[in-house]
Amino acid sequence: MPEKVVIIGSGPAAWAAAIYAARANLDPLVFEGTPQPEMIPLGQLAFTTEVENYPGFPVGDVRAFVESAVAADRHYNLPPVPKEHVRDGRPHYAIQGVELVELMKQQALNFGTRVVGDDIVEVDFGRRPLRVIARDAGPHESHALIVATGARANYLGLPSEDAFKNRGVSACAVCDGALPRFRNKPLVVVGGGDSAVEEATYLTKFASRVFMVHRRDELRASKIMAQRALDNPKIELLWNTALAEVEGNDASGVTGVKLDSTVGADSRSLDATGVFLAIGHTPNTDFLGGKLELTNKRYVRWTVPFRTNTSVDGVFAAGDVADDYYRQAITAAGSGCQSALDAERWLAGAGFH
Ligand code: NAP
Repeated sequence: MPEKVVIIGSGPAAWAAAIYAARANLDPLVFEGTPQPEMIPLGQLAFTTEVENYPGFPVGDVRAFVESAVAADRHYNLPPVPKEHVRDGRPHYAIQGVELVELMKQQALNFGTRVVGDDIVEVDFGRRPLRVIARDAGPHESHALIVATGARANYLGLPSEDAFKNRGVSACAVCDGALPRFRNKPLVVVGGGDSAVEEATYLTKFASRVFMVHRRDELRASKIMAQRALDNPKIELLWNTALAEVEGNDASGVTGVKLDSTVGADSRSLDATGVFLAIGHTPNTDFLGGKLELTNKRYVRWTVPFRTNTSVDGVFAAGDVADDYYRQAITAAGSGCQSALDAERWLAGAGFH
């Protein structure tokens, strides 16, 4: 029997779609991915620390709530409780990205969502029902499909950057920042957006100093985040500067960087034991093999205004895989909800529901 709806992904868009699809009795099947470069279980929220802007989650004693709501066998996924801030005698800290997405997953499970820890590596939209092929679980048929595979971090593409990946070069401060090699040492963050500010701010917990290397003379980050970086005494902004080379050796990994001016001919070297890239993202659309229409930046194209429809009838897209503009947890969750409602209406119209 074909599925009514298969959902591919495991971030806010996928879980919101699953919550709505499950409550509509569509019995959704979610392929949540494995730790491959393309599919990150729990999505990019898993790489974030404090989430202060997701409505409904003001700072407070959030961990007690998370532990009461998320199944105990997934508590190992939860990050250590952040250093407790107390206000008026009560715990006072923001929800962590992993906690937030674990709550979303739990909410989807509570309504009967089935989850497979596998990657979809190929799709066949030239037949009905649609067919998706999982790396280990093989082919599955479904009348409708929701693509919510998100996006992944970009690298500059320097050979020296590649050579020192996992030996000082990273795109995830939250994953790697606490490693001994980064403690009490100068570190470099490349980029000028919210991610760069967030990474730099996080790294100040460990580093002796954080240099933010930005190619322009103005940050792209939101005003509140930018001000946080500018006010942080441990962060030094290097304006109009580009990372030209990561320097290091086999024994020590990264030892420094070579920086070029973007407005003149100056170059200089800087000591650092770590380089963190925060220069935007690439959507996870390769597995679609050109079978859905993409934008020129390779995001899935939404083909109907204010709807999540794609170029293939019965296939819907939600979250960062189709959104290079807002890219927020809340907007991803919102479009995940839309995609489930769109799929439900499409299934009803086609006589499958
Ligand atoms: P972004 O806003 O696209 O910023 C990317 C940054 O990298 C820009 O400053 C850009 O420089 C720089 N960059 C891109 N390509 C580069 C290259 N080849 N060489 C050097 N620099 C390069 O990406 P993001 O910071 O990942 O943020 C993505 C979205 O997520 C945004 O909507 C952001 O608001 C959101 N976000 C929100 C939070 C939060 O609210 N807590 C946290 C993280 C992200 P230019 O400025 O010169 O283009």
